[in-house]
Amino acid sequence: MVVARDRVIDWIKAYAKVVEENRDYLTQLDAAIGDADHGANMHRGFQAVLNKMPEIADKDIGTVFKTVGMTLLSTVGGASGPLYGTFFLQAGMKTAGKMELSAEDWLAVLQGALDGVIMRGKAEVGDKTMVDALTPAVEAFRNATNEKQSMSAALALSAEAARKGMESTIPIVARKGRASYLGERSADHQDPGATSSYLLLKTAAEVWSNNS
Ligand code: ADP
Ligand code: MG
Repeated sequence: MVVARDRVIDWIKAYAKVVEENRDYLTQLDAAIGDADHGANMHRGFQAVLNKMPEIADKDIGTVFKTVGMTLLSTVGGASGPLYGTFFLQAGMKTAGKMELSAEDWLAVLQGALDGVIMRGKAEVGDKTMVDALTPAVEAFRNATNEKQSMSAALALSAEAARKGMESTIPIVARKGRASYLGERSADHQDPGATSSYLLLKTAAEVWSNNS
């Protein structure tokens, strides 16, 4: 299986819809340990991304990702704008000129995007951030690929690992971002950014699960 450029665009569009559907949920999560804007931030960003899609529909995947990243950087404030912006800019660096993605390409995208988020935000696993969802997802995708599992199986395993990583943020105390200002009171709440990151990878697994 390879993921063609049009299906990459399908993923971005589907995620914009998922963000719209989960806007209030993400905001509720952020109301508990932040400033109640994560849903609005992500929604604003991905609506702007949707508006950009027509002009890049015939471009390579690297250009698509780069445009998503720059649009998020310029339209989303707070912590998540620069972090998701970096995620997609790094994804674009790994896919310059490509018209389709193999499992190997997708692994490079995930690893590069995660490295970018870590470089930018300096969070480690266990700090109660999006890194807690993304890190096990990259590991799961790598392991499945090494075991020669199909790309759709690897995508499903990676989404499942992201879900577990997201849930792992519930009991812990935040050490990065706005939630860290709450100290112990940040415990017993699921991290909003880990939740939007899980949804991003779950959407990829779902949209790309039918063979192309
Ligand atoms: P803000 O915190 O500025 O209001 P958002 O509410 O949109 O921005 O996003 C909050 C999310 O950003 C958090 O739930 C967390 O997952 C993520 N986040 C915050 N700081 C960092 C960081 N340093 N590294 C990684 N992710 C972070
Ligand atoms: Mg917030």
